[in-house]
Amino acid sequence: MKRYLSCHTCSFEGFVDEPFSTCPKCDSASIVRCVVVECCGEDLFCPGFTNTCKKCETDYNWAGQTLAPRNQWGDETGETIEEILDIDNCTTDELLDGPVALRLVEDLE
Ligand SMILES: [Zn+2]
Ligand SMILES: [Zn+2]
Repeated sequence: MKRYLSCHTCSFEGFVDEPFSTCPKCDSASIVRCVVVECCGEDLFCPGFTNTCKKCETDYNWAGQTLAPRNQWGDETGETIEEILDIDNCTTDELLDGPVALRLVEDLE
């Protein structure tokens, strides 16, 4: 599993080895990070709660963990799949700049 980091301050962008809490280049805390898993031989970014491989439709959570098949979803929470997947309607920019990304940063501390 790789980690992706982009910095708002110096525009650094790329894969990093460690779960940096600040930009490895300019030390700014104004960064966005997400984990990147490899699926079907390609990098799959996981900025949202649910991130789906376009090829095999495997779902990964924000931590890069494989999620249970969708027909098992919602049993405990009562959420519909539409509600769970609502995040997919966000653009990548919204995900990277929005509350999901901020919460992700906190969760990884
Ligand atoms: Zn930076
Ligand atoms: Zn896949």
